[in-house]
Amino acid sequence: MSLADDLYRETILDHYHHPRNHGFIQDASARVEGVNPLCGDELVLYLKVKDGTIDDVKLEAKGCSINTASGSMMTEAVLGKSVEEANKIIATFKDMMLAKGSEVELPEEFEELEALQGVKKYPVRIKCALLPWNTLLEGINNLDK
Ligand code: ZN
Repeated sequence: MSLADDLYRETILDHYHHPRNHGFIQDASARVEGVNPLCGDELVLYLKVKDGTIDDVKLEAKGCSINTASGSMMTEAVLGKSVEEANKIIATFKDMMLAKGSEVELPEEFEELEALQGVKKYPVRIKCALLPWNTLLEGINNLDK
């Protein structure tokens, strides 16, 4: 177990025990449910978009540690970003999780997300990490254009 692995594990546990942006949004622009039957992860994503910017994003999640931590980090990564930027972050994160072999380096702002790269050693858990992001993507695609 390397030092990086330890730091990664600490980051994931911190988000798991203290999920950021947990809850719901009354007047959400989009509400999407996500399920990962392989693990039993369930979540509801609320998205509030104002003038093309993600004004608020909240998650109600009942999932494993990886799922909860990934969702928590996701809300922090996209909050206050434009929908266009959020789409880019989603694409970058999915690239990172699905890239075979080499590690993907993220821009400094999203460095924390690299903690989830350790999950790639357990292919079954990749779906746990991706669920919040795929649900967000669906939410963005469901927005009234
Ligand atoms: Zn899971």
